[in-house]
Amino acid sequence: MIGAVDIGGTKIAVGIVDQEGRVLARAEAPTEADRGYGAGIEKISRMLREVARTAGTPLAGIGIGSTGMLYPMTGEFGDVDFLPGWQGHNPVRDLSRAFGVSVALENDGDAAALAEAFWGAGKGKSRLIYVTVGTGIGGGIILDGRLYRGVGMSHPEVGHHVVEASGPPCSCGFRGCWEALAAGPAMEKWFEENSPAEECDGVPATARQICERARKGEDTAKRAVEREGLYLGLGLANLITLFVPEVIVLGGGMIQSAELYLDKIRAVIRSGCRFVPHEQTRITLASLGEDANLIGAAMAWQHRFKAYPGPAQ
Ligand SMILES: [Zn+2]
Repeated sequence: MIGAVDIGGTKIAVGIVDQEGRVLARAEAPTEADRGYGAGIEKISRMLREVARTAGTPLAGIGIGSTGMLYPMTGEFGDVDFLPGWQGHNPVRDLSRAFGVSVALENDGDAAALAEAFWGAGKGKSRLIYVTVGTGIGGGIILDGRLYRGVGMSHPEVGHHVVEASGPPCSCGFRGCWEALAAGPAMEKWFEENSPAEECDGVPATARQICERARKGEDTAKRAVEREGLYLGLGLANLITLFVPEVIVLGGGMIQSAELYLDKIRAVIRSGCRFVPHEQTRITLASLGEDANLIGAAMAWQHRFKAYPGPAQ
């Protein structure tokens, strides 16, 4: 049984995950990052003890998936936008001291990629890219059954490849990143700027509401969805051209309305990926739902410390 910790900007989830990727117990609490790292790690330890008691099991190890920049090999937080003041702290060292077990830390996109490759929509596939589209775009890359890492074990940022050089500015320093064009806030901004005054009731629409309006046949909302499909498709086409994975698994809040954009996504891919066997790359939806990050955190521990059986290559 593995203790799993998912640290996000707004909430922390903790659970017990078994060898088959099942979540046996879980608990959740607000992150309250501004109360500092010490209060955060204390809360995580308390929740881990609670869920272990509920599941009636000792922990073999602890896996953590977390938002933002981090150093998986040393276990330290880097410069994490959503966790101000947590930089330089080391949850791997602190939890391993508190519980007397080994602890692994990974970026949450990498953790969810491991989960989907091992227990979810990409089960049995050795070349997989996981993409999550919500308020930002993140993900993880599995190549030949292992998590792909960059130099210094770094985490590549799939959301920050440039799709349109003259596009809107992005938090990373470039203009026109995939995230700046296709994440939820980009759709909301475009909709606000392009809605005729008579369609606007003065309250900015959320991406979910725009999708609802598109389903009802509203013109501007339908154009917003068409535009979303185009930019999602361009980013995915780039990933296919660069990696030609067996499967791309899509998750995140924006993908809950995937049926609105999938045709456009497929059309964009067909229109420009002709130098690679793009028809062999399956585009599919994440299947682990709410638990993907917790299962991913547990997988991060398995991937680090256990012989990772890995899918056939
Ligand atoms: Zn960027």
